[in-house]
Amino acid sequence: MYRSGIVKLQPNARFNTICLHAGQEPDPTTGAIITPIYQTSTYVQDGLGRHKGFEYGRTQNPTRMALERNVAAIEGGREGFAFASGMAAIGAIATMLKSGDHVVVSDNTYGGTYRLFEQVLTRYQLSFSYVDTSDLAAVDRAITPSTRLLFVETPTNPTMQLTDLAAAGELARRRNVRLAVDNTFASPFIQQPIAFGADLVVHSTTKYLNGHSDSVGGIVIATRDDDIAWLRFVQNAEGAILGPFDSWLVLRGTKTLPIRMQQHSANGLALAEFLSGHPKVATVHYPGLPSHPQHALAKRQMRGCGGMLSFEMGSLDAARRLLDNVHLLALAESLGGVETLISHPATMTHASLPAARRAALGITDGLVRISAGIEDIEDLKEDLGRALDCV
Ligand code: PLP
Repeated sequence: MYRSGIVKLQPNARFNTICLHAGQEPDPTTGAIITPIYQTSTYVQDGLGRHKGFEYGRTQNPTRMALERNVAAIEGGREGFAFASGMAAIGAIATMLKSGDHVVVSDNTYGGTYRLFEQVLTRYQLSFSYVDTSDLAAVDRAITPSTRLLFVETPTNPTMQLTDLAAAGELARRRNVRLAVDNTFASPFIQQPIAFGADLVVHSTTKYLNGHSDSVGGIVIATRDDDIAWLRFVQNAEGAILGPFDSWLVLRGTKTLPIRMQQHSANGLALAEFLSGHPKVATVHYPGLPSHPQHALAKRQMRGCGGMLSFEMGSLDAARRLLDNVHLLALAESLGGVETLISHPATMTHASLPAARRAALGITDGLVRISAGIEDIEDLKEDLGRALDCV
């Protein structure tokens, strides 16, 4: 017979164990060690007003709820809410605001976040100031009596600037604004913003949490009672939930997050070092390089520096020749999967930004971004080296 709770987490369980087991118990019916995909829209009730805590698939789903408990534990938060995409998760955070509210945002935030804020949410009398959040004095100056939220991305995409999370947490507390951190680029293996004082963490689970380039999703982790109550309400009220199969895929992904992240970080650093020494490459942006202006901060708040890096080829033509000649590295948007991807931010991920804004952020036509996968590093270096020879 199945003994309930056979896999039980101790309160002092460590990070890798939490990734594997938190939020999941063997299935009470069969003992299946893997949480089943509850592919159902509704649940049969025992009698009027008597049910097992499950009424309707948008409101409750055991697979999604297992994922939400799992990622909440991984991020060191209290509760998680999974959404149909990272953008839907960021949209859910935005519903905490009321018309007239103001938000301070990292100026180099993901292009889709900028598009949501500027082209959708400004229609609802919300206003946004884009500030270099690596300069916390500038953030302090940008906060007004209407500011409710500080929305930070660190490292930024694609120029890999860092924000000091502990200092941002202290500032947010002092000025009485919520701190939300988009932790997609780093993943909770590399940094845990809540431990530094963030109130909310958001992820595109499409990236490192799922890790296998086969699902689109998002999640918000919250710490405060009022935020938890609102997010639970709005997840059901708006209904942009993550489906059971995608929830199951991400739950499978988080089990291997620590070992994948170690390999992503090792390959990211090795590629950054390889490119830094290459005569055809002008600059490399990677926080793990001693030449990165915030290398000391990276060592303080990050555990390894992950798989994301970008570098300057000098011109659109040079970038195009490189991208046309890679074979193992796949030319594609997205990041955080086990396969190495290479992309051109100016025409791909950041095409929705006006050209002047891209220029101000250092997203030049010659900038190339890599999401280092977990392939053998020698194969990656050989492929990049051959493509650089064609430039
Ligand atoms: N946040 C960051 C940092 C991202 O890179 C992305 C997507 O690339 C998103 C949010 C949006 O996530 P999704 O594509 O899952 O909607």
